[in-house]
Amino acid sequence: MNSINFGQGVHETPFFPEDQETNLLNVCLTIKAELIASGTQGNDGLPQPSLTNEIHPLFKLSRWVTGPNQDTERIYNRLKPALRLASLLLTNPKAISSYWPRLLYGHHVHFSGYDCTRDYLEPSSRETSPSTPSAVSDTFLKMSKNVSFLFMFANPARPDLSRVFGITCPGRDISDSHTLVPFAKPFKWPRVQRHREHPTIGLHHSFYDFFAYQYLKASTSLRYRQLFVLAQTLVHEVAHAFSMFVHPERGELAVEPWYCREFMQDVTQRQELGWTWERYMFGGALIPINNNVEDMGPLAYSLHHRVPGQGQRVLVNGAEARFLGAYPGAHGAPRRMSMSFVTMEWVAGWFTAEGWREWEGSGVMLRAMGGHLVLVLDQTPEQTLVYVAEVFTGPGEEVWIG
Ligand SMILES: [Zn+2]
Repeated sequence: MNSINFGQGVHETPFFPEDQETNLLNVCLTIKAELIASGTQGNDGLPQPSLTNEIHPLFKLSRWVTGPNQDTERIYNRLKPALRLASLLLTNPKAISSYWPRLLYGHHVHFSGYDCTRDYLEPSSRETSPSTPSAVSDTFLKMSKNVSFLFMFANPARPDLSRVFGITCPGRDISDSHTLVPFAKPFKWPRVQRHREHPTIGLHHSFYDFFAYQYLKASTSLRYRQLFVLAQTLVHEVAHAFSMFVHPERGELAVEPWYCREFMQDVTQRQELGWTWERYMFGGALIPINNNVEDMGPLAYSLHHRVPGQGQRVLVNGAEARFLGAYPGAHGAPRRMSMSFVTMEWVAGWFTAEGWREWEGSGVMLRAMGGHLVLVLDQTPEQTLVYVAEVFTGPGEEVWIG
């Protein structure tokens, strides 16, 4: 599924782009004990969030729309661990050393006579210039004078929007038709510079409901899942906003290129700059398996893989995966998907200075996942064959499926 909406100039982040959550939930129920044993539910021993870095001006309270059911001030203290994590992801020198320079300086290649699905970013020598990290930081600071955040209201006319974590609109004038938060009283909007792009980032209202009404009785693990997915969503949407901000024509037309030409041939990649950032930073987009923001279940990231031949063994990191069973088929073309379940220690580690030091010291972008479970789903319209494997990945290692 192409998650870029070419028609309306808005970038949306689907919960579960593969649309296979029903199957997946059934599968997860059969391995519930293994999922718990592998650390996906967490325990009371998780450390408390302990990051103390400054919150980036992008996310400061004055950038949030206020009004009925937009009382961000009331929940701001509870959001702070997520805002600190999102801020670190946009200020840590290693975290911004790659990915962002391409968005800033990459040449947008468009093939005339084709639609945007073949657009991509060509590398530029400026990406590796010594001054580039500060140019990226400067751009974040400039954006912080022009971005607005809000919590979307449920939109009965757009049920598809109830299935997105966040959306980014290039301007406020087209924002309210998607978010149902009017650019009018009694809502108060942040100041922006009208002569520049002023993206609006809308978050699923369940984030608001969780932090306003359910936070106090939620477990530490559930709070962590909320905070992590919120931080991930914020930076994902900032990536869309960044692309619109430095290349306004992308905002107006909602033309978002592939991150690089090679990704067009890679079935595990997508033409979606926010998702590319998640892949680059975490190894994939972390999605709750129960497809629910408020009662967020274990987090897993999904990747597509090359469709296998008939009757082949499924190898995960070189070892044969265990066949779990045959489940109902999935509409559409045959495909192979993997779901890697992250442990709650992995999630909590991003909220501690020690976790970041460990990640920085390893010299690679992907933080070690350690031992975790991986599901492989081979889907055809007739049936879904499911395999499970327990794997160990060290720093920078992705799961290899063959
Ligand atoms: Zn997106």
